[in-house]
Amino acid sequence: MKTIDDLNFKGLRAIVRVDFNVPLNDKYEITDETRINAAIPTIKKILNDGGMVILMSHLGRPKNGPEEKYSLKHLLPALNRKLGLEVKFASDCIGEIPRKLSAGLKNGEVLLLENLRFHKEETKGDEDFAQELASLADVYVNDAFGTAHRAHASTAVIAKFFPKDKYFGYVMANELTHINKVLKEAESPFTAILGGAKVSGKIEIIKNLLDKVDNLIIGGGMMFTFIKALGGNVGNSLIEDDLLETARQAVEDAKSKGVNLYLPVDTVIANQFDNDAHRKTCDSRDIPEGWMGLDIGEKSCSQFAGVIKQSKTILWNGPMGVFEMENFSHGTRAVAEAVAEATDNGAFSLIGGGDSVAAINKYNLAGRVSYVSTGGGAMLEFIEGKELPGVKAIEEE
Ligand code: AMP
Repeated sequence: MKTIDDLNFKGLRAIVRVDFNVPLNDKYEITDETRINAAIPTIKKILNDGGMVILMSHLGRPKNGPEEKYSLKHLLPALNRKLGLEVKFASDCIGEIPRKLSAGLKNGEVLLLENLRFHKEETKGDEDFAQELASLADVYVNDAFGTAHRAHASTAVIAKFFPKDKYFGYVMANELTHINKVLKEAESPFTAILGGAKVSGKIEIIKNLLDKVDNLIIGGGMMFTFIKALGGNVGNSLIEDDLLETARQAVEDAKSKGVNLYLPVDTVIANQFDNDAHRKTCDSRDIPEGWMGLDIGEKSCSQFAGVIKQSKTILWNGPMGVFEMENFSHGTRAVAEAVAEATDNGAFSLIGGGDSVAAINKYNLAGRVSYVSTGGGAMLEFIEGKELPGVKAIEEE
């Protein structure tokens, strides 16, 4: 693996693709700095060598050009604070503005480019756009694991303009090393815990995990598609009807592959999507009309915790419930604590996905798990065995 440790950056301009896709609140304050923190060691290594850093990232999903709420300038105070210097800012990522600012950089200085996705060429993987970005620097570093599964201009296409001068940053190198530990060297019992809202993105992945894991725990909004597929009543819970057959098939496959599939036996239900809604616990297969499941129940928590604590390898992606609301956060917390306890007892645990990371941080457990991944979708695609364009672009000759 060619990493930034293989080069002395003295006097060189490095354009670094980072994953600064951080959550911002209404006041444009960062509510979780994990992704910025993750990129700091790579930036510091280049600066300490005496190099110059040009940072580029996307933020959110702007539709038609620039939007205030997706401006990367909101990240400047945090970056300045963490790096202990004044980061320069280019209000556009291509054209005259970044060209001038890049040319004016001195050793040890940092330039942040405006949101790449303010130009639709970024996600289209446009070559001219990639070349414009490439023209700003001598070396390309990819440290954005979170977008490594996308063949975008800044994550993959740009690499061709640096046939020899392209490197993995520390985030990328770390992610690849740790995920391979789960993929290739998983000690048994291996338990995967999947949750969150997006069933569609994960159901395919479940199929692939079935060849690797001993136990598969499914919670969060995605559980209801499984429960309905098995004949349960899910009331007004989150559901993807077009995936019912896929879910039913996954249950069959788990059986035939000898994987223990755990669905929550009980569910905390509410009459509204609101922290202060009326709530009660019921059998997951028997949710009344007008009620929706927003968390896993007590019995499920203890059953899942038992399985987790007996595991030697653990992969967790996605909350067990609407953990942003205090009253529906207990399942996610119970799982987080069980993962930490298993890790204390020698298990290897990998946590991935924006919301699981937010949860593990919220409960101050980041220090008690083996590795917290910064890339949800990318991590899961990697686990699925897919080749990531962002990884391939650096590795290929
Ligand atoms: P994802 O991005 O797919 O990992 O989904 C994360 C989101 O799923 C979080 O914002 C949770 O609030 C949400 N979520 C988890 N459980 C449920 C549920 N039972 N009903 C609705 N949303 C849920």
